[in-house]
Amino acid sequence: MTEKTLDQIPVTQLKGVGTQLAGKLTKLGIHTIQDILFHLPMRYMDRTRITPIGSAQLNTDVVIEGEIRGCDLVYGRRRSLMCRIQDNTGLITLRFFHFSSAQRQNLKTGSRLRCYGEVKHGSSGLEMYHPEYQFLDRHKPQPLQQHLTAVYPAAEGISQQRLRTIASQALALMGEHSLTELLPEALHKIALIEAINFIHQPPTSAPLDLLANGEHPAQQRLAFEELLAHHLTLLRLRLTFQQQNAPALRHDEKLQQQFLSSLSFQLTAAQRRVTVEIQQDLANPFPMLRLVQGDVGSGKTVVAALAALQCVANGKQAAIMAPTEILAEQHRNNFQTWLEPLGIHMAWLTGKVKGKAREVQLKAIQDGSAQVIVGTHALFQEEVVFHDLGLTVIDEQHRFGVHQRLALKEKGQGSNATPHQLIMTATPIPRTLAMSAYADLDCSIIDELPPGRTPVNTVVIANHRRQEVIERVRTACANGRQAYWVCTLIEESDVLEAQAAEATTDELHLLLPELQIGLIHGRLKSGEKAAAMDAFKNGKTQLLVATTVIEVGVDVSNASLMVIENPERLGLAQLHQLRGRVGRGKEESHCVLLYSAPLSPQGTERLKIMRQTTDGFEIAEMDLKLRGPGEVLGTRQTGEMELRIADLQRDAHLLPNIKKTAETMLARYPSQANAIIRRWMGGSERYGQV
Ligand code: ADP
Ligand code: MG
Repeated sequence: MTEKTLDQIPVTQLKGVGTQLAGKLTKLGIHTIQDILFHLPMRYMDRTRITPIGSAQLNTDVVIEGEIRGCDLVYGRRRSLMCRIQDNTGLITLRFFHFSSAQRQNLKTGSRLRCYGEVKHGSSGLEMYHPEYQFLDRHKPQPLQQHLTAVYPAAEGISQQRLRTIASQALALMGEHSLTELLPEALHKIALIEAINFIHQPPTSAPLDLLANGEHPAQQRLAFEELLAHHLTLLRLRLTFQQQNAPALRHDEKLQQQFLSSLSFQLTAAQRRVTVEIQQDLANPFPMLRLVQGDVGSGKTVVAALAALQCVANGKQAAIMAPTEILAEQHRNNFQTWLEPLGIHMAWLTGKVKGKAREVQLKAIQDGSAQVIVGTHALFQEEVVFHDLGLTVIDEQHRFGVHQRLALKEKGQGSNATPHQLIMTATPIPRTLAMSAYADLDCSIIDELPPGRTPVNTVVIANHRRQEVIERVRTACANGRQAYWVCTLIEESDVLEAQAAEATTDELHLLLPELQIGLIHGRLKSGEKAAAMDAFKNGKTQLLVATTVIEVGVDVSNASLMVIENPERLGLAQLHQLRGRVGRGKEESHCVLLYSAPLSPQGTERLKIMRQTTDGFEIAEMDLKLRGPGEVLGTRQTGEMELRIADLQRDAHLLPNIKKTAETMLARYPSQANAIIRRWMGGSERYGQV
């Protein structure tokens, strides 16, 4: 008879767990006994000793015991049941807002109770609201807890008491059916079983402060394993990817020189370095998967163009995909200017290219007469068939999820080869995060801006000084400069945001009658958007009122002033992106952060950082500190990196070791590596398969 392991035993094997409770547990991601063991407490309570009522501290959780002195219904603002409990040191009142009549009858004067709860100061003196309680029998002493009491992440309809009972049954089973230790012994200081026992039922002597912060070695042992699981998933994704075939694209020195000499500028050292990295990747017979990080304005587009050029030189197609119409349009213009003089043919596809025009583009993509294809996510659609795709470039990828990346990859499969992938992002990712969240990618960093840029000067001004700000706009435009006025909203609502931008435009028309004012927002048709952008680019409009749609990539070098309304509503990364729209020319540029007082402490902190630095990497580190990794990483992380016990920031010190361990495990212990992924990632394991 083969013994079942804990991940094969369903929760329904436990006493008291029927299908109904099992259903509720499913909502917590709990299916098996092993899942229960890995459903870890959020915090702990000390119920190992009884506190005399007279010495109970306000706002602390305590266990008290005493005799009921009387129960009353009190009709105040809310009806409540008040139950007085006394021991030989003092008196406390239990207060219930919700109670059944049975409950009320049971709380008889003279009965003895043991209660668990937080001590509060109420109208009757010391009070406990809705404590957990149990009746005591003078003749049958009730044992106290022998260990700290866990508080678990709960779901509706499952009490903490239930979760504790289930957990202790599961712990008992762990004694009989061992839980497989998956980390090689040399790699951990505490055995898994020991760690799990400790975390569910820590002894009274456990250091509560370490536990509360998740820093106890037992917790760190599990955090390590969890982070390792994530890392392994990404590494496996990458390995699988690299086992595929890709066209080896040779570098064409002559064509590259021809292109470079046609540019009006010289590449920066950083651009040259990254170009060489890409050049080498493309020459491999397996697909490149490279992320280029470069601050706004660092010149990523030309690096992408060089990659496209190498691809075209080998007779393959290159696709460039941007997250918005505006940006796609801008790339099209750049690529046309750069590549068409070299005799390269282009196609153009967005959702708005319709009818006959669309057919023409689709045909050019399919028959291979188009060599470089620029577009939006429309390039993903099924009807788009590439003749021979060798490279996809995805710009500003934080807008795209992993799913989309994978979908585009499939576009190359017709020719039995996977295209190379280049991903470009202007949102710098803090190093520690990049190491864990992007372990499936190679990273290049363009850490240098083209020469001659003057850093943007940022000021923070309260909304009651709005008139002064309007005067600044007037002066800048009178001097031949252009300005952006950005409206932000809390809600993610295109409609409301558009309305706000329209109202602001009306206001500015009245106050600045001499200016030509343009308006751009997400509700405009793409033709209207393009027209508004063009008018601003050509200087026909001097002031552009915009919503955050202009955030990404837009490049108008004569614009030297940006006003951002309610900047306190945006994250640092987004503010940095917006601000990157100015400071692209030789003139000194200014950014006015026009906030609504009063600011929250966090808001104050954020705006201060924006004033102090224009370095995207520094800002990203700060953003990580203030908002945590989930927010900083955006879409990519939703669902993928929901960590149960690890905390990327707290546990960052583990990451270098995790990287090494993951590599060792994949090479030497592949089956354990798979089991770790299954244990921690469960259903989200799809990310481990390409
Ligand atoms: P981003 O990295 O934000 O996408 P872009 O590629 O849009 O930046 O480049 C910003 C501007 O800088 C563009 O006008 C581009 O032509 C220009 N540029 C790029 N590289 C250089 C360089 N080496 N020297 C001068 N200007 C450059
Ligand atoms: Mg760009």
